[in-house]
Amino acid sequence: METKNLEVWEEEMDICIRCGYCFEGCPIYKEKRWESDGARGKVILAHGLLRGDLKPTDYLVQKIFECSFCRDCIERCSANVSIPDILSAARADIVSNGYKNEEHINLLKKIDETGNIFGEKLEAPYKEGEIPVLLGCRLLERKEDSKRYIKMLENLGIKPQIYDETCCGMPYAVLGYKDDFAKQQEKFRERAPQNKMICLCTTCVFFIKKKYPDLEAIYVIDEVYKRIFDIPHKKLGMTVTYHDPCNVARGMNMVKEPREILKEIGVELVELPTNGKKAECCGGGGGLLVTNNPLAEKLALNRVEQALKVGVDTLVTLCPTCEFNIKNAAEKNNKNLKVLNVLDLIAEAVS
Ligand code: SF4
Ligand code: SF4
Repeated sequence: METKNLEVWEEEMDICIRCGYCFEGCPIYKEKRWESDGARGKVILAHGLLRGDLKPTDYLVQKIFECSFCRDCIERCSANVSIPDILSAARADIVSNGYKNEEHINLLKKIDETGNIFGEKLEAPYKEGEIPVLLGCRLLERKEDSKRYIKMLENLGIKPQIYDETCCGMPYAVLGYKDDFAKQQEKFRERAPQNKMICLCTTCVFFIKKKYPDLEAIYVIDEVYKRIFDIPHKKLGMTVTYHDPCNVARGMNMVKEPREILKEIGVELVELPTNGKKAECCGGGGGLLVTNNPLAEKLALNRVEQALKVGVDTLVTLCPTCEFNIKNAAEKNNKNLKVLNVLDLIAEAVS
């Protein structure tokens, strides 16, 4: 098999000293318990592909794609090995060698045809303004919520410009479709009215920061954090728990800001047993929702059960995909847990 993408990461793979620290927090390993489910095992598989010692069998491919890119392994790794980057390269090589997964192809076809993951024509609530705001596919689909979040920005003194956006291309990149990703990047750049934008979605902002060095992606929470302490707002008087999205806590190093904002708007926080940089992943990332949906749902259900155990009836998070996955797990399993976005609470506080 040709391995031109993995070749770039050969040195990174050689750095792995096989210490095994990465097992401790890996959500996939915790569920499945095979060496090949943890980061170390996956790096060994990728290395085997690169050397030609292993073939991309269905079993091996499944292991490479069963990773939520949660970055817990990076946080614990004694050698700073960037496992999600290695697995992205392995996925790209597997795909360019002819691997096809119907679920992946269907999702990417939807983006190709409509510019969003839902495959529907979704109109943004257009608005003239000073700073472009990217809603992201999931919020573009939640029209009423988007309008409230835009109003929230206005109440914070921001003049949002809402435009005809298209997907940032993250699904192409994580599922190994590098050439299609490059095409989607061009479309994304063409639509952007300026080279900077405020992003409401955690996944988009983290991804744009990483993959679009020519664009400035500003995370909405940074903007809220700059303003909320100085403008009049309500105190909500409620108690919740908070699920740290992987891309926020580990990806963007943001742990204290959402907590301080919640405190400022009168929301008491009861922490989950794993939180901050050690927070468990809900399973919504890395394409796991399409690669192995039951596994993604099981990881989300773990979070639901932990939330109920700490004695709250509401879980808030920042990532619309975490929100979707956790809410879906709660509903499907008849768990009485309300799932909201932190933006819902901020919007209410400044309304
Ligand atoms: S990114 Fe997360 S799911 Fe993937 S190997 Fe690392 S710890 Fe496991
Ligand atoms: S923690 Fe890092 S160095 Fe240790 S086995 Fe895992 S990937 Fe390799």
